[in-house]
Amino acid sequence: MVEIPPAVAKFLDGTHQSIVIGGERREARSGNTIDVRDPGTGEVIGRIAAGGPDEIDLAVGDARRAFEEEWRDTKPAARERALLTLADLVEANAEELATLETLDVGKPLTESLYVDLHYAATSLRYFAGWATKISGDVHPVSPPVGDAFVYTRREPLGVVGAIVPWNYPMLFYTWKVGPALATGNTVVIKPSEFTSLTAIRFAELALEAGIPPGVVNVVTGYGAEAGQAIIDHPGIAKISFTGSTATGRKILAATANTMAKVTLELGGKSANIIFPDADLDAAVQGALFGIFLNQGQVCAAGSRLFVHPAVHKEVVEAIAQEAEAIVLGHGLAPDTQMGPLVSDVQLARVAGLVDSGRQQGATVVCGGERPGGDLAPGYFMQPTVFTDVKDDMRIAREEIFGPVLSVFSFDEEDEVIARANASRYGLVAAVWTNDLKRAHRVAAQLEAGTVWLNAYNVLDPTTPFGGYKDSGIGRDLGLEAVHSFTQTKSVWVNLD
Ligand code: NAD
Repeated sequence: MVEIPPAVAKFLDGTHQSIVIGGERREARSGNTIDVRDPGTGEVIGRIAAGGPDEIDLAVGDARRAFEEEWRDTKPAARERALLTLADLVEANAEELATLETLDVGKPLTESLYVDLHYAATSLRYFAGWATKISGDVHPVSPPVGDAFVYTRREPLGVVGAIVPWNYPMLFYTWKVGPALATGNTVVIKPSEFTSLTAIRFAELALEAGIPPGVVNVVTGYGAEAGQAIIDHPGIAKISFTGSTATGRKILAATANTMAKVTLELGGKSANIIFPDADLDAAVQGALFGIFLNQGQVCAAGSRLFVHPAVHKEVVEAIAQEAEAIVLGHGLAPDTQMGPLVSDVQLARVAGLVDSGRQQGATVVCGGERPGGDLAPGYFMQPTVFTDVKDDMRIAREEIFGPVLSVFSFDEEDEVIARANASRYGLVAAVWTNDLKRAHRVAAQLEAGTVWLNAYNVLDPTTPFGGYKDSGIGRDLGLEAVHSFTQTKSVWVNLD
């Protein structure tokens, strides 16, 4: 039994006040709740409110009031300062937030601290800087008669619905709240029903940072209830969504009625390609990091590893040896290197896909089972590596979102590019080679929003992140993300 630190226990105190509207914590009007489970033990450790259309309506109303009465007209420098203060508070409370994240998601505490919380604070600081740097243009117009002076303004959209998945909750709040607030919008966050704890604390810290009540609201609840109510709501000007492609399609269907703008960051089935001239030690480490970070529950997971036959045996042996040595355990246990999956639902899904791999004739090189003993009650899955995978098997085509690697062989450069691109997804790809010309040639031809050359899973707030094809619409991060939270107004001044 892992002890829950006192600073964290207040979020699990049974009051179910997990909805934050206008700066006030409250329960759902219906009184409905959702169990919070520790994925490391499977035990219920608390309850959160299951909000629905009533709470979304209240939150959107309050966010609109805060937008009109305050935030849209708050001076850019004041918005920048508030976001910088929020970043400082996130950093100052990083241990508490990381503990909440680990209890909710399952990932090792070191990962929550040094990946999620580190990048959350960094991302907020990056977006804070844009508040004072967003500008319009002056246009050299040629009116048929007389003359005119024309300039553009980048104005906020209004109330943004931020719908977030369970794999990187804290990080994604900052990717959405950062650009939304920097540009003068207000936000209603709908966290995942599996992982809502850090959202509540984040909303409290926003108030502490001096961000007015109503600017950052949180409605916890199920996707089909609270989530659907956001995407159907006519008062929402933009949906910033990260999650599955299936839910992304529902958002596109709903926003056909509301005309809300959308950014969709969706699933992936990313190709990681090792050429025979690569630095193999680095490539093996990249492949391991690419598939086992966060138990493989990463949209950018390098779940399809293409290895040239000249180095195939060596690479597979090295990966399997390291994978077998990974220490599984509760995320709060100090020696844990890999935690559980987020939920019993996710475990069943991953285990089902592993079974399908076996049944369709792939070979399990390592893992493939749920660990027993003390870990049996948690949602654990062994790090798993398959070889002899055919391109048409389910494990080759479907996003698994778990610690499961499929290894393929390829002979020619053109062939591997075609096979890497033969997926509906197109989020990221990686190439390992020391041939400079080949590296850039292949990068240019891969259908993916990010291509890593001799690297994997590296991101920076300055650099746009998002998908080709079914992996999404629009970009998070970078100036492209900032602009997507604004709309352009052209102002014509008659100079005659
Ligand atoms: P999901 O689509 O099931 O849920 C994501 C969010 O959408 C949750 O908050 C959920 O409650 C909500 N939701 C569900 N149904 C809804 C509806 N009808 N209307 C509105 N909201 C609804 O995804 P998940 O299982 O939480 O997350 C895993 C998925 O997220 C994977 O496919 C993964 O690839 C993707 N993901 C993508 C990125 C990226 O940047 N591209 C990053 C992380 C995760």
